Amino acid sequence: MTTNRSPWIHQLTRTDPFPSLHTDIKTDVTIVGGGIAGVATAFFLLTETDKNVVLVEAQQIARGATGHNAGQVVSYFERSFADIVSEFGLEYAGAAQKSIEDSWVLLDQMYTKAGLTIPLSRFLGHAGFSSYEQVISHLKDSACREKAGLSLESFRISNRAAYVQKIPQEYSHLYECVEHDVIMSLLETKDPSFSAVLSYQKGCLNSALFSDESIVYLKNTYPERFSVYENTAILKVVLKKDHALLDAGVATIDTGKVVLCTNGFETLTIFNESGLDIDTQFHHDVKGTIGYMSGYLEPMNKPPTAISYFTNPDASTLDPYFYLTRRQYEYEQGSVHNLISVGGPEVSLDDKKSYSRDLLYPESEQKNIDTFIKTIYETDPNREIDYKFTWHGLMGYTPNLIRRIGFEPKNKVLMYNLGCNGVGILPSVFGGKRIADLLNGDTSTTIFDPQ
Ligand SMILES: Cc1cc2nc3c(=O)[nH]c(=O)nc-3n(C[C@H](O)[C@H](O)[C@H](O)COP(=O)(O)OP(=O)(O)OC[C@H]3O[C@@H](n4cnc5c(N)ncnc54)[C@H](O)[C@@H]3O)c2cc1C
Repeated sequence: MTTNRSPWIHQLTRTDPFPSLHTDIKTDVTIVGGGIAGVATAFFLLTETDKNVVLVEAQQIARGATGHNAGQVVSYFERSFADIVSEFGLEYAGAAQKSIEDSWVLLDQMYTKAGLTIPLSRFLGHAGFSSYEQVISHLKDSACREKAGLSLESFRISNRAAYVQKIPQEYSHLYECVEHDVIMSLLETKDPSFSAVLSYQKGCLNSALFSDESIVYLKNTYPERFSVYENTAILKVVLKKDHALLDAGVATIDTGKVVLCTNGFETLTIFNESGLDIDTQFHHDVKGTIGYMSGYLEPMNKPPTAISYFTNPDASTLDPYFYLTRRQYEYEQGSVHNLISVGGPEVSLDDKKSYSRDLLYPESEQKNIDTFIKTIYETDPNREIDYKFTWHGLMGYTPNLIRRIGFEPKNKVLMYNLGCNGVGILPSVFGGKRIADLLNGDTSTTIFDPQ
C-alpha cells in the first residue's frame, strides 16, 4: 500500500494559506468549495458582475477532485450523446454539447485574464474501441451530432475488423476504413485487439495549479470585493426567503446567495424554511466513486497525448475504461520529463462519508494499472516501472450523469455548480460562467438546470 500522492499537488507552490473565518460577515454571494468549480464560479462572478463574493474551503484550495484527477481537458459527457438526445431532445442536448465544447474559450479567457503561464497542451486525442457494439454506439452518437449541427469527429475503423460488412449503410459517411497498422499506431499500442479509433480535440492541464494560481490572481485583483477563507467548513446552510445563513463553526456568513461547489454534499446540512426536504433529496442524489491513478516519468522524447482504451470488448463505452495521458512535467524545478499517468479502476462507494483523501492506495489497483501499461502501452513488458505517484480522488455522480448547475427550484437563494462525474474540468468552468449569467438575469433553460 502507498500513500495518496498526486503529481498535481506536488507542483503547488503557494506557501501562505488564506486565513480561516473567525468573525461574522455579510456578503452578496458565498461560494462553498475551492476546487475548479468554485474557482471558476468566483472568476466569472468577479469579472462579469458587481457582486461581493466570499469563497470558503473546508481544507485548502484545489486539494479535492481538482487535485486528484487525470487532468485531461475533454468535452464529452459520461453518457452517450444519443442517450442524452433521447432524454432531453435534439435541441437541448445539442446546445449542452456545444456549450461544453465552447468552454475551451472560457478556459482561454481565464488563462489570459489571470496571465497564467502554466502548461496547457492541446492536441488531437484518441479513444480505441475493441467491439462492434462500441463502434455502433459511437456511430449512433455521430449521427445525432450531425443532426444537431455539431462538428463530426474523425472515426477510423480497421479494414480487418470482422464486423465492417455489418455496419448499417446509413452510417457509411461517418467513418473511414484504414489499414490496421494505422489504428495501432494512433493508439500507440502493440495490442492488435483494437479495431477502431475516434480522434478529437483534447488537452491536459494541472487543474490544481490552474485553480490555485487563478485564486491568487482574483484575490490580488479584486481585494475590495473578494475574500477567501481556507480551513473553514460550512456545517449548515439555513435558507431564508431572500438570503441564507451559513454556519462556519465559530462564525456565521449572512449571504444573499450561496453556490455549492462541493463536488457532492457530504459535509453539510441544508435547512430550508419549509424543512429538510432539499437536504434529504440531495444526500440521496450524488453517488460517490473512487478513481485510482498511477504515474511515472520518462525522457521527454514524445509529444503530449491523451488516449482512452476500451480494452474489454464486452463492456459498453459507459463502463470504466483505462485512460492514459502523456505530458510535459516538471518534477524537480528546472528539470522536465514526460509524465505518463494512467487511470481506470473505479470503486463505488455506498456512502461518500467513507471516503477520505488519506486512504492508502490499494496494491490491487496499482497492479491493475501496471498490467494495463505493460500489455497495452509499454514496449518492454519486463520493465520495472518506478511509479513516482499513486493517487485517488472522489467523483460525484448525479443520477442522470449530468452536472447540476443553477438555482435550486425550491429556494432560489441556493445555487449549485456540482456533481462532477469523471469529466468535470470544462463543465466546472462552464458552470462558473452559467452561474454569473443567471445572476445577471439570463432566463434560458438547459439540461444542467436542477430539477
Ligand atoms: C481520479 C479522477 C480522474 C479524473 N479525471 C478527469 C479528467 O481527466 N478530466 C476531467 O475533466 N475531469 C476529471 N475528473 C473530474 C474532475 O477532477 C472534477 O470534475 C473536478 O475537479 C471537480 O471540481 P469541483 O470543484 O467540483 O470539486 P473538488 O475539486 O472536489 O472541490 C470541492 C471542494 O469543496 C470542498 N468542500 C466540500 N464540502 C465543503 C464544506 N461543507 N465547506 C467548505 N468546503 C467544502 C472540498 O474540500 C473540496 O476542496 C477526475 C476525477 C477523479 C477523481
